[in-house]
Amino acid sequence: MEFHCTDEKCLRAQQVPYRLSIPIEAIMDEVNIAAPFCPHCNSPLTKSKQNEDTDQDIKSTKK
Ligand SMILES: [Zn+2]
Repeated sequence: MEFHCTDEKCLRAQQVPYRLSIPIEAIMDEVNIAAPFCPHCNSPLTKSKQNEDTDQDIKSTKK
């Protein structure tokens, strides 16, 4: 699972959006995680949309 900072000032200051990856095993229950905060601007991070089927696609494509 991945989060990213959407604060415009932070984006300008950092040049690249701050991103935080959390292994899915560490989460277990999504409801129980507090929203992570950006260490640069202290804004709450937004959850990035990710395609969780990617791993399977890679396996079947390679050959
Ligand atoms: Zn930020």
